[in-house]
Amino acid sequence: GEHNEEEEKVMSVKVAVMVRPMLEEELVDGNDIAIFADEEKQSISCATSDHTFTYDHVYSGEDKKSEKKLYDNCVEPLVSGLLNGLNGTVLAYGQTGSGKTYTMGTSAGATFGVVPRVVRALFEEKDKITESGSTDTISIRVGFVEIHKEEIRDLLSSSSTASKKLVQTVITLRENANGGICLNGASEIEVKDESEMAELLSSGAKTRATGSTNMNKTSSRSHAIFTIYLERRSTSPESSSEVTLAKLHLVDLAGSERQKRTKAEGKRLQEGIDINKGLLALGNVISALGDDTRRAANGHVPYRDSKLTRVLQDSLGGNSQTVFIACASPADSNAEETLNTLKYANRAR
Ligand code: ADP
Ligand code: MG
Repeated sequence: GEHNEEEEKVMSVKVAVMVRPMLEEELVDGNDIAIFADEEKQSISCATSDHTFTYDHVYSGEDKKSEKKLYDNCVEPLVSGLLNGLNGTVLAYGQTGSGKTYTMGTSAGATFGVVPRVVRALFEEKDKITESGSTDTISIRVGFVEIHKEEIRDLLSSSSTASKKLVQTVITLRENANGGICLNGASEIEVKDESEMAELLSSGAKTRATGSTNMNKTSSRSHAIFTIYLERRSTSPESSSEVTLAKLHLVDLAGSERQKRTKAEGKRLQEGIDINKGLLALGNVISALGDDTRRAANGHVPYRDSKLTRVLQDSLGGNSQTVFIACASPADSNAEETLNTLKYANRAR
C-alpha cells in the first residue's frame, strides 16, 4: 500500500558521487582525465573501458554549484527529518585527496560544504518554527568524535578545559533498551547559534589526529564524526509535554586507499588495517540495508563488526535516512583507487 511505499523511501540509502576538478599539481604532472561524470544520466564512465556506473546522483566538481546541488537534493531532507525526530547519517568516502573534507566542509573555518549548510539551514528552520508562533522549544547540542585504531576519542574535550594539554578521554559505547546508541564520556555541547557551532567544528577539526604518508602530508587516518543532537519539546494545553530526540551524524571517513600505495610500515600499517576494518564493515552494513530481500526477511545487519558501524548503528537503517557520498579524483594517476571507490559505492546501492 501507499504507506509501505513511503516507509520504503525513508529507509533507503541514497548514493551520490562527487568528482572533484583536476588539481593544479595533477595538471602540472601531465595527468589525463580518467573518469567522466554525467549529471543528467547520473552515471560515471571510465576513459579506459566502456564500463559505466549509475548512481542516485552524480556531480561534477567542475561546476561550482555542485556542492549546493548535492546539499539541496540529498542532504536537505535529512535536516527536515532531524526536526521531525528522524535520525540520519551523511558519509563521505574516498581515497585521501579525493575531496571528502572539501565536500563535507569539515575543515576549520569552512563556510560551504555539507556541515556549514546543514548548520545554517537548521538554525533558519528553528527560527521559522519559533516565528510561526509554535510553543515548541528546540535545543541543539553538538558532539565531535573521531575513531582512530578502533578507539573513540572526543574532539571537543580540550575546548571545554582551560588547559591546552591534550587530555584524551576514551569513550565507551552503550546501547540502551530502545536500541539507541550513547557515547559515554563524549562531550555534547549546547549551541545557541551558527557561530557557536562553527567554532566547535573548527576546534574539533584542529584536534583531529593526522599523520604523514607518502600520499598526502596530512592524510587523515581517522573517521571524524560530527553529530548534531536535536531535542524538541512540544507542549500543548491538553496534554503533557512530549519530547522528541533525534541526531544527525556527518561523517568524514578515513582515506579508503589501500596500504601498498602509501608504502606504509609498522605503526601506520596497523592503523591502515584498523581503518579498513571500519570501511569494510560499513560496506557490509550499507549493502545489507540496500538488500530488499534480506531486509524484508529481517536479515542480519552486521553493525557489530567495527566501532564505526556500532557508533552509527541507530542512525543507519531503520527509520533513519542515509546519504553515502563517494568522492573521486578524475586524474588517471588515481584511476585504480577511483575504480575501487566506484565499485564500493555501487555495492551500497
Ligand atoms: P580528502 O579530505 O578526501 O583527503 P580534500 O577534501 O582535502 O580531500 O581535497 C583534496 C584537494 O582537492 C584539496 O586541495 C581541495 O581543496 C580540492 N578539492 C576537493 N574537492 C573539490 C571541489 N569539489 N572543487 C574544487 N576543489 C576541490
Ligand atoms: Mg580530509
